[in-house]
Order: sequence, then structure tokens, then C-alpha cells
Amino acid sequence: MPDTIDTLLSGGTVVTMNDDGRVIPNGAVAIRGREIVAVGSAEELAEQYLASETVDCSGCAIIPGLINAHTHVPMSLLRGLVADVQLDVWLLGYMFPVESKFVSPEFSYIGTQLSCAEMIRSGTTTFVDMYFYEDEVARAADEAGMRAICGQSVMRFPTPDAASYDKGLEYTRSFMEKWRGHDRIIATVAPHAPYTCTDEIYRRAAALAREFDTPLITHLSETARENTESLQERKMSPVAYTESVGAFSGKAIVAHCVHTDERDWAILTKHGVGAAPCPSSNLKLASGIAPFAGMLQAGVNLGIGTDGPASNDDLDLLTEVHLAAMLPKGVSGDPTIVPARQALALATSLGAKAVHLDHLVGTLEPGKRADIVVLDLRALHATPRYSYAPDAIYTQIVYSAHGSDVRHTLVDGRFLLRDRQLLTLEEERIKRAAQAIADRINAFLSEREANLLDKIVAIGGVQQSEIFEVQVKAHIDDVDAIVAALNGPAFTITKSSERTQYDTYLAFTDSVRGRVRYREDHRRDPGARLDPKYTLTLTVPAAERDELPHAVLLSRARYTAPADRSLRFYREYFQPELVVEVEKQRRRWRVIYKDEDFAINIDRLGHQGEQGLYLEIKSRTWSFRDAEHKAALIAEMLEHLGVSDEQLVKKEYLEMAAAQVH
Ligand SMILES: [Zn+2]
Repeated sequence: MPDTIDTLLSGGTVVTMNDDGRVIPNGAVAIRGREIVAVGSAEELAEQYLASETVDCSGCAIIPGLINAHTHVPMSLLRGLVADVQLDVWLLGYMFPVESKFVSPEFSYIGTQLSCAEMIRSGTTTFVDMYFYEDEVARAADEAGMRAICGQSVMRFPTPDAASYDKGLEYTRSFMEKWRGHDRIIATVAPHAPYTCTDEIYRRAAALAREFDTPLITHLSETARENTESLQERKMSPVAYTESVGAFSGKAIVAHCVHTDERDWAILTKHGVGAAPCPSSNLKLASGIAPFAGMLQAGVNLGIGTDGPASNDDLDLLTEVHLAAMLPKGVSGDPTIVPARQALALATSLGAKAVHLDHLVGTLEPGKRADIVVLDLRALHATPRYSYAPDAIYTQIVYSAHGSDVRHTLVDGRFLLRDRQLLTLEEERIKRAAQAIADRINAFLSEREANLLDKIVAIGGVQQSEIFEVQVKAHIDDVDAIVAALNGPAFTITKSSERTQYDTYLAFTDSVRGRVRYREDHRRDPGARLDPKYTLTLTVPAAERDELPHAVLLSRARYTAPADRSLRFYREYFQPELVVEVEKQRRRWRVIYKDEDFAINIDRLGHQGEQGLYLEIKSRTWSFRDAEHKAALIAEMLEHLGVSDEQLVKKEYLEMAAAQVH
């Protein structure tokens, strides 16, 4: 009597991905419950088993379900939000501000449903995630029937779901407890990256992962800059640092590893750490190309990931497999490295080792879980087929096939996709829910992009502290006369300094939008601080600017804060239409005149060879009446300093410098 089984996938080319590289043309896979019970020829298995259901797979490849070793599935909702910018602008300028405003349990849930639908359609059965409200990711993945390792993100900054990392780690523990023992979902902890975490976060996360016997997930060596900074600050590569804080003391999965070398690979191999480069994302963010061939040769458990769909922009793992086979060839000039079979292993047999699930999935062998993909190879782009070479099937899968060729997807013996129909997710409803969230984000961004203040606040650049400033400027010839008058009886000097200032104005042709000034300020007076100071100032022109007497200008809504990012970052983030640089030597006095506080500057401009010597008198003010009062005082002060009306300049340095540009 033949044995009874539930499902027989029959008549396709079975690609086992086992150690012997067994490929069975006209083969079959027998499934009982959630397990594979036999793999063999279609004829053999038909004789041996009585199946409740036999599925004809002729013209198809039957392969292990694909394993996406690194992603952030809720980020499918941010797909296409911003592109063609640097990683820091992408992350700090867009992802973090939008996430802090919009990421919610609903966001994580809907985003995961969208991603699960896409992954099931394109042949992914297991994914390794890292995001916020990870409990919702786990819930949606479980409902979709997928296998997932869900890492709750922890960072030293406040995140959308935790005001501090202590709270984050607490939440992570209860999340891990909730899902402990689940058959398909592994809940774990994901310290984001060395540059967003602390030693303590890594130590505590590692202890948590060891306690629950789950893999710790983190990002390492994504960009060259990350490596340079790690070597400067810690005298160690990110991989060596992560080892030093105990993060590899249990299981671990590390994303990217783009900028790693032999020493890093030795560390990863020693601890059995899984590495997951994400070729599309690494290319799109110009992070680089991971050393696939070197890592494989060093024996690293190498997997492959899509990364979040916001930097990819899809979850088609076959594209990543394709790139993993192509990129090393292009970089090395050697077409024999990372052949198709090895590239496919990254998403199957070797990928399973990378995510510490090789006892369950990654190959088609009796005893393994029935996570299986049936890939239709009858599409135009896969026609015709050759079979004389033993590796032909890998060539067809890696170089010709696409995720959209997937016909059936099974996890634990259950069909999640059957004849290209999703069985566990409602595709149309998910699309509508996703678009509704995107519409809200779109409205927020279109408003923010038009408003410099909103943009600056979005990156945490400034405190909102609105002030007005009155100021007058005059062309002068004789510095000594001004200095002598300042030391006269009319003024009381409270402070003085000398400095060189390099100002870069990021401006717009429509000046009503305001402008951002990036200032690098070097003190030159003896004994002053040595390090330059960087500040960012937003200025919006005052509507009343022409109404004050004596050429006094009024500017409104000035926001100043330390500039903690590079000028390059601000240029790319604000995308100004006009960039103007002004360099000046400044002597500065703080004076009291008739009980009011004023700043007096004597500036020598060195812009584009045009030397100019200017006097500025400035004061803060809080009302238009006070501004008028101070304008009158400024007129008196000009008289004391011997400056006549003809010398007054009703322009700011930006306008003067910009005039020279044209
Ligand atoms: Zn990532």
C-alpha cells in the first residue's frame, strides 16, 4: 500500500540546493503536513505515495522558498518617497522625520501586509525584519502564513515606539516573551547600528538574544564613512567593535558588510555570524558593492537581502540574486566568480545558514519544512530552454527568471500563492489602505517642502524661538575713527572679539521663502576657543522692512542653532536655487547705548576679490514699536560714529554678494 501524503508537486525540475547539488528533471516533492517527506522522480513518487492532491508543475522549476535575510517590511509604505540623494539626507532628512510622525502600529501592520503580499508573489517564504512596532510585523506575517524573524529596533535616540532605549529594551523583552515558542515567527532584538547605539545597548541586546536563543540583528559597515568614523573613534572596524561588545556571543545576523575585509570575515566566520548584503539598496544609496566572492571564499555564512523597500524599491529577491551573480564579475573582470548556483544558494541553502534556520529550510530534503516555490519557466524571457549542461537550470533561474514568474508559493506545506492567486491576503484592500497612508504622508511632505521652517524643524535643527532684529549697514573707510568713537563717552563696551566668518547662504529666487545661513566662525583674538563654531540660521524677510527710518532693516523669525551636519548635507536637503558664499573678517563689540544693548560689527569683506569695509549696528527687538525706538537710537549712534546718510547701504551681505554673482 502506498503511503498517503497531502500534496505531490510533480513534473517540474526539482532544484534541491542540497550539498550534492541534486537536480531532478521531471521530478516531484511529496509533502505531508508541514514537512517534505520525499524528493525524487515524478514516476517514483507517484508509485510510492497516494496524494490527496497532485499539482502538475511541468514547465516549472521547484525550488526552496527564498530567504530574504534583511529588510524593513513596513517601509514598503515609503517606497518611492525620495530617491537620488545621499544616505544621510535620505535617512535624516526624510526617513526619520516621516517615521517619527507617521509610524504607528497601523503603519507597521499595513506595511507588512503589503510587503508580505509582494514577497509571497515573488517567491520569498522567510524574511528577517528590523523595524518599529515589530509586534505588528509579527502579527501580519503570521496571519499571512509566512516565516519571519522579527527584530524590534533599538537605538539610543527616541524612536516612534520608545521614548528611550530603556523603554525600547523593555518593550522588546515583552514582545519576545509574547512570541516565544511560535512555530514560524521568531521575535528578537535589533540594535540598529554602532553609530546609533551604545556599548550598553549592544551588551543588553546580546544578553536578551542569548536568553531567548534568538539571533541578534544589526547593520554593519554599510558605508565607507561609517568605517572611517569607527576607526577614528574606536580604533576598530564596525565588525570588530560589535564583537568587542559581545554582540556575537550568541546568534547574530548582520546586514550590509559592504566595507569589510579579511579580518572582519574571520570574525564573522569564527562566531558563525550570518551576513546579508543588500545589493540594490547598496547601489541605490551609493554605499558600494559588498565583497561577495571574498566572503564566500572566507567561509562566511552569506545570505542576501533586499533591505527596506524605500531604498530598493521592491522586495523581489531574485533581482538581488541576479545582482549577486553579476556585480562581482563586473568588479573583478572575472566572469567565473559567483556562478549562478552559488548566487542562488545565497537566497536558499547558504541563506538559511545565515539566518540560523538551516535545520528547517533552505533545501528540498526529507525532514525539512515544505517551504517551496514553483517558478514558471515558460515565459518569453525564459524561452527556449537547454538542458545538456548540468548547471543549466541555475542559469535559467538566476539570469532569466523574475519574481513575477512565481506560480505557487508554499510555507509549511500550505499554499500562500496558488496559480498566482494570493490565498491569505486581500490584495485590493491592502493596496487601498497603503495608498491612504501614503496620501497623508504626501500631504505632509508637500507642505513641508514649501516651508523652510518646517524643513529645519523636521531635522531637529532649531528650537522655535522667534525674534526680530533691527540692523543698519554703512560703507566706511576709516576703521580707527570708528573705534575711537566707540571708546568715547557715549558708549559702554561690554565685550569685544575678532573672528573670521565663512557664511554660505542657501537662498531661493522667491525671497519670501526665507533663507538658511550656514556659518563657520573662527575666533582670532588671543585666548579664544580654537575650534570653529558652526551655526545654522533661518531668516525670513519682515513684511515691514521698508517702513523703518534711516535705512534700518528689520528681519523677522530668526532661528539659530548649532549646525551639527555638514554643509553638503544642508545643500542637498534644502535644495536651494541660489548658493552664495561670503567671507569676512569681523571685529565685534557688544555695547550699551542709552540702556539698550547693541552689537556693532566692522566687517572686511573678502568676497571674490571685491574688498569692502562695512559697519553694522544690530539689536534684537520684540515689537514693531520697540523696533522704531531702536531705529531712532541707531540714527543717533551713527552720528556719534561719524557716519553720514550717504554711506548707508540698504542691502544685506547676501544681496551684495549675489549681485556680484550675476
Ligand atoms: Zn537595513
